[in-house]
Amino acid sequence: MERDSELKDRAARVIPGGMYGHMSVLKRMPPEYPQFFERAEGCHLWDVNGNEYIDYMCSYGPMIAGYANPRICAAADAQRAQMDIANGPAPVIVDLAERLVDQVSHAEWAMFAKNGNDATTICVMCARARSDKPVILVAKGAYHGAQPWANYMSKGTPTDEHQYFQPYEFNNVTSLDEAASKVHGRLAGIIVSAFRHDAGHHQELTDPKFAHRVREICDHEEAALILDDVRAGLRLSLDASWSALGVNPDLSAWGKGIANGEPLAAVLGNELYREAMTKIFVTGSFWYQAAPMAAAIETLDVLNEVNGPQLMERLGQQLRDGLYEQAQRHGHGIIQSGPPQMPTLMFEDDPRAETGIAFCGLAAKEGVYLHPWHNMFLSTAHTEDDIGRTLEATDEAFRKLG
Ligand code: PMP
Repeated sequence: MERDSELKDRAARVIPGGMYGHMSVLKRMPPEYPQFFERAEGCHLWDVNGNEYIDYMCSYGPMIAGYANPRICAAADAQRAQMDIANGPAPVIVDLAERLVDQVSHAEWAMFAKNGNDATTICVMCARARSDKPVILVAKGAYHGAQPWANYMSKGTPTDEHQYFQPYEFNNVTSLDEAASKVHGRLAGIIVSAFRHDAGHHQELTDPKFAHRVREICDHEEAALILDDVRAGLRLSLDASWSALGVNPDLSAWGKGIANGEPLAAVLGNELYREAMTKIFVTGSFWYQAAPMAAAIETLDVLNEVNGPQLMERLGQQLRDGLYEQAQRHGHGIIQSGPPQMPTLMFEDDPRAETGIAFCGLAAKEGVYLHPWHNMFLSTAHTEDDIGRTLEATDEAFRKLG
């Protein structure tokens, strides 16, 4: 029996459902997809059956400058050898906070945690602490983590858990205005994604008019504009993702790519929220780990040196153009959405992603790991050669799809 099947059988006995969360291949993924991997380098992955893939998921975002990036690993390893956790943080926490405050234009302070959901939750608490008001507006269908306040997908969360989290429609000014006016005087903050990157949907870039209106409402209501840059951070911009729209958040949440896969999340904020941040008690046993912070500084260096967002955009555009040409030639209607560095590929008339799943399964057999209904991720480790080899694989996958 192949190793992946053997591990899946063993996992089914000791891990509920066989696997959990976004990395379970048992939920709406191609049957060809492996569950387990054993090696990762650059933009390449090897599964436990020995198959190699050019990877377009990047661990769902954390890998941004290549798996096992020698410079970033060396920085983390050197810090780890000296000290990782202790009774207090290492000096690198100050270095990293200074670095982020220099680089991100709205940021006047920084603090650190482990996961994106820590960061978004801290932002919510900080917004409430400053305003002494309870309500946060959250876009319908947006993902801000699996913690109870943000979890609309599963059992285990009582419905009244969400009473202070009121919905609005992303990019829809009327819906935003209505949602805000309903909670006038009680609004602590509005949380927004960098762009609409809801899984299972075509992606939508942020309408600048919408972004400016969010800022206006927050200013008028003395509420926090919270930018959830966990997924898009450092891929669209070296600044916060809404900076290109001319809109600064008060608070921003970061995670995933900031330390190239070492566990680290960050909350950045402006002067207005500094005092409030000192009023909330948030912490975690591993939040002060020094090695991921050293990795983050090196990751920022690497991304600045090559202008990471621009490089990923160019490579993503090359992939997008190639896929478009192939789909036309093979007679398949595809819809590509989102920024090129975080592309989504779906098929027309394919509401249950059945064609997408079949296509991705065929591409995986040719050595390329795509996703049928979630946005994908480019990295600075992808090369033009990788894109060329990817397109050879997808050409074959389109041909076999018929
Ligand atoms: N916000 C966004 C936009 C995300 O994409 C994610 C993770 N997919 C989170 C928050 C939560 O991050 P984490 O899984 O690291 O807790």
